[in-house]
Amino acid sequence: MEKLHAKKCRRVVLVPFPLQGHLNPMLDLANILHSRGFSITIVHTKFNFPNPADHPDFQYVPISDGISNWDISASNLVRLASTINTNCKDSFRKCLTQMMQQQQEEKQNDQVACIIYDFLMHFAETVANQMSLPSIIQRTSNAAALLAFCKLPRLRAEGYDCLQDSTSDELVPGLHPLRFKDLPTASMGSLDNFLQLIAVVCNTRTSSAIIWNTTDCLEHSSLTQLQEHYNVPFFTLGPMHKMALAKSSNLVIKDDNNCIEWLEKQAPHSVIYVSLGSIATLDQKELTEMAWGLANSDQPFLWVIRPGLGSGSEAHLPEAFQELTGDRGCIVKWAPQKDVLAHPAVGGFLSHCGWNSTLESISEGVPMICKPYFVDQKMNARYLSHEWGIGIELDEVMQRTDIAKAIRRILVEEEGSRMRQKVIALKEQIKHCIKEGGSSYNSLNKLVQFISSL
Ligand code: UDP
Repeated sequence: MEKLHAKKCRRVVLVPFPLQGHLNPMLDLANILHSRGFSITIVHTKFNFPNPADHPDFQYVPISDGISNWDISASNLVRLASTINTNCKDSFRKCLTQMMQQQQEEKQNDQVACIIYDFLMHFAETVANQMSLPSIIQRTSNAAALLAFCKLPRLRAEGYDCLQDSTSDELVPGLHPLRFKDLPTASMGSLDNFLQLIAVVCNTRTSSAIIWNTTDCLEHSSLTQLQEHYNVPFFTLGPMHKMALAKSSNLVIKDDNNCIEWLEKQAPHSVIYVSLGSIATLDQKELTEMAWGLANSDQPFLWVIRPGLGSGSEAHLPEAFQELTGDRGCIVKWAPQKDVLAHPAVGGFLSHCGWNSTLESISEGVPMICKPYFVDQKMNARYLSHEWGIGIELDEVMQRTDIAKAIRRILVEEEGSRMRQKVIALKEQIKHCIKEGGSSYNSLNKLVQFISSL
């Protein structure tokens, strides 16, 4: 199938959720649609907003969110989503009304075709519906996670009281291979509030399609089950960072590119890359265990210690750590993660298993050590270790001996080579998905046709 472009110049309005892991796939989608002839407007909160200079071709429109400062943590995420949905609705309506008036007055060609919103920004659907504009949901996490979320209310109604048991190894009925301890219910604050949010995000309401940052080759079974449940077309465009021609945008910290120079000096597959994403935190004991785990592994490491990863503004590493590890280690505040994972020196990724990090690692054929925390991360870790066989799961309690051992298993031992072979096979399948004729490529063509027909 040839590459399809928008029939006439149409505008799509994108509404991202203001966290790095949500913004990245939304900006990737913006880049993808822009390359297919659509004009792009990003409507964003004033809190945690992307840098317009990173994408000068896009129009950026801020909306009021009533948030001056927010301590981002797992227990706070449900409240953040609810606050934004309450506070942004009126401002979004005003902004859209203005855009439409301007369109009419100036007889612009690129009329708004639809609103595409992150699944957590559901106020956008309400407003779009009121203004008779079509809306499409973007799912920034994976299909298996949505499947699990949709089952949670029913499990609760059926009396499963191990829903909040973070130690239960019992398999969740109908959600193979997940165990109760993989579900996010123990880490998200009040279960009632979490289930309320889930009820909203599992409902497509009047939205006319769902765009996924996943691929058929990774999630065929979950996607098929969900498609039976949802009566709207699915467009699976993942991994979107591979489909997009341009880079996304950092929210807070700049990439430290010095680590690429350091990687240049390392042997192939010799380095463990360590990053826990943009939200997860470590207490002082965990930070110390991680530091000693890296030191005792005797392997080169690249460690992202972003401001706020440890308790306090600066992370306190053990005194002898620097002396002991010397040039064997490179520590940065923020890494150009996709470039790091694509570097031949990187042999493993010790990760919190956020969905973006998971996709980015698989796309580059890098096996993982999984230290998940909240939302979908434990489910992703279970898929990585149990379903795809490309990850080693660490215990809930972080211990230096386990960390050092897992690093050596991935980088030095036969087990790591086997995992690398498996993840490279998945990387090849992903390459097929995104190239001409592949499932993600075809899905994008169908999405372009779909939006052009709205
Ligand atoms: N990221 C990055 N540099 C870093 C750490 C993270 O560029 O040093 C990016 C990473 O590539 C990914 C995103 O931040 O695209 C994190 O998203 P993810 O879903 O993995 O985790 P979250 O931050 O949402 O927990």
